[in-house]
Amino acid sequence: MLQQRSSLLLSSLSHCAFRSSAAPLSASVRCRTRRCYSIHADLAGSGKVQGIDPSKLTITKTTTPKDLLPPEELIFGRNFSDHMLSMEWTASQGWLPGRITPYQNLSLDPATCVFHYAFECFEGMKAYKDKAGNLRLFRPDRNMARLNKSAARIALPTFDPNAMIDLIGKFVKLDERFVPDARGYSLYLRPTMIGTQRTLGVGPPSSALFYLIASPVGPYYPTGFKAISLEATDYAVRAWPGGVGDKKLGANYAPCILPQMQAASRGFHQNLWLFGEEEYITEVGTMNLFAAIKNKETGEPELLTAPLDGTILEGVTRDSILHLARERLEPKGWKVTERKFTMKEVADAADEGRMLEIFGAGTAAIVAPVRKISWKGRLIDCGLEENVEAGPIAAQMKEWMEGIQYGDEEHPWSTVL
Ligand SMILES: *Cc1c(COP(=O)(O)O)cnc(C)c1O
Repeated sequence: MLQQRSSLLLSSLSHCAFRSSAAPLSASVRCRTRRCYSIHADLAGSGKVQGIDPSKLTITKTTTPKDLLPPEELIFGRNFSDHMLSMEWTASQGWLPGRITPYQNLSLDPATCVFHYAFECFEGMKAYKDKAGNLRLFRPDRNMARLNKSAARIALPTFDPNAMIDLIGKFVKLDERFVPDARGYSLYLRPTMIGTQRTLGVGPPSSALFYLIASPVGPYYPTGFKAISLEATDYAVRAWPGGVGDKKLGANYAPCILPQMQAASRGFHQNLWLFGEEEYITEVGTMNLFAAIKNKETGEPELLTAPLDGTILEGVTRDSILHLARERLEPKGWKVTERKFTMKEVADAADEGRMLEIFGAGTAAIVAPVRKISWKGRLIDCGLEENVEAGPIAAQMKEWMEGIQYGDEEHPWSTVL
């Protein structure tokens, strides 16, 4: 079956017709008149969403099913389910029929463009099993919309999101036994797209591969929350205006590992990425960041996060927390604000007794409470009592989110497969 796959992939590589990816003139004109902090998906690549026909899916089941690991032995991203979903694209034929095959190696020519120029983007999402045994996805439309934006930005093809969700649903159902059913457990899904054209020429790939692999995962905090400490990082920059920090491109992640190792060598779990002379707070590690602070003027509690200005990854968790906070915290007197805020504002809040709590937000952990931040040689206390590992807002958000993800609360965000 390995040969089978490779031959298909290789056959697609022979379709190397030139594909023009020039953005329409009107787009570049618009950029000059209105400051573009980030290229929008519809301005990049061909811009045309390309059809997928899910009814053409073929399934080749494994003949050697894997043993399931005991839940307590699951390590994030280490073990994978029996199958993978893949779909090839060529400039001349568009998306070829999707295939579910046994999980297996890819076979790619060493000159394939992904290896040289980082034509790669990905997503991170989860499938959950509810009490009744139903399989559920959480806001998959958001992940697919984001993958399309990422793909378009690096001249990879876009796709019809609903057809893709249909295929992902079929894949999850086939590998259902890998979706653990306990609270906190899930099947992590990694949709990935790469440019597969065999060339060292720098240009738009004329062939691409979408594939999805899946890894069963346990709770991020198996023994309850564990607050993290951060190093405010000003010597390295994760993202910048006009850059691609708002896209989930593989190329954004490797350069962040060295600063992370440096922070770790000084005893901190993650980098708190600052931007500019103002030292705006952007994100933490690979999570969005929320700060709950009492407003300096009004004394009202305020939940703050950085705005989507092109330097912030548009987290599905971030968006969900903002929604829930507006719906459920604002009636209780909270203000929910997306605006730029600085490290100094956070330090002042801590100094003046206005700091409530700080937490990261992302699919893996949902929330990651922060205990302290190292900044300019001092340690900023983020409001957690000594024996407490999470503030009330972080804990509440995790409960609301899991309630929806595991179907305890019926909600339009949770899609039953
Ligand atoms: C994936 C990611 C997030 C979180 O996004 P979610 O959709 O909530 O998982 C935040 N920041 C960065 C840099 C990311 O890569």
